[in-house]
Amino acid sequence: MAKGGGQAKLKKTKMSLVNGRGLFAAEGVRLMFAGFLKITGAEVEDQILPDVGEGEKLVAKKLNVLELNTNPPPRYSDASLVSSLEKQGIGRPSTYAPIISTILTRQYVEKDEGRFLPTALGKATNEFLVKNFGKVLSLPFTAGMENELDEVAMGKENWKLMMKKFWDEFDTDVKKAESEGERVRVEAEKLGEKCPECKEGELVIRVGRFGKFVSCSRFPDCKYTAKYNESAGFKCPECGGEGVIKKTRTGRKFYGCANYPNCKWAGWKKP
Ligand SMILES: [Zn+2]
Ligand SMILES: [Zn+2]
Repeated sequence: MAKGGGQAKLKKTKMSLVNGRGLFAAEGVRLMFAGFLKITGAEVEDQILPDVGEGEKLVAKKLNVLELNTNPPPRYSDASLVSSLEKQGIGRPSTYAPIISTILTRQYVEKDEGRFLPTALGKATNEFLVKNFGKVLSLPFTAGMENELDEVAMGKENWKLMMKKFWDEFDTDVKKAESEGERVRVEAEKLGEKCPECKEGELVIRVGRFGKFVSCSRFPDCKYTAKYNESAGFKCPECGGEGVIKKTRTGRKFYGCANYPNCKWAGWKKP
């Protein structure tokens, strides 16, 4: 290309419109000199903004609302959960491990490929607690409580006064929640099969102390239960049985065989 003069020259105008809390922007463009665009044949369409003075009041003729999806933040891993707790001032190095093992053993979360996923029980519990114990559940409260406990440990605060202040409010919340008598409803996952015992109910997956199990939707009228084997999509390398997903007592996922205890094959990874 010949030296100089090849560049196209565009004049851009930008206009910012403020409306309450919203900010709208409009951009105009005018081709001043086509330059190489003349050769490439690319067309630039002029977009000329209306002549508006600074601070001038405009009336909107039409408002279009567009729905755009953004990605949610990634699920917590051990490391990101601990760093978030640290940042919020919740927990101390000695309590990070117990916090994580507690939410796993109580089955509020499940671990999948190193990330924590909330269970139906976890979601329902959280909803109930936030609704009835909003203050105790708030991040600033928890962080403040940790600081006060530190002060008590260092002999700078009177623990009786501190506990009394906490207890009076907490006790009121507990009594209120009890008097409302609301039970936490945990959404049971449906298996899409009829109960083989009563032939009326539907089979659902419930979570008990020892993990997931299959039960009848008509419980307690129908007491049918069965072992729940979540298919892992592979065949057992030892007996050819169905490969299933299992969990250790601490919630760590591993793979096993549906024919257990007859077949004892198990592994951390799919074969
Ligand atoms: Zn049944
Ligand atoms: Zn097997």
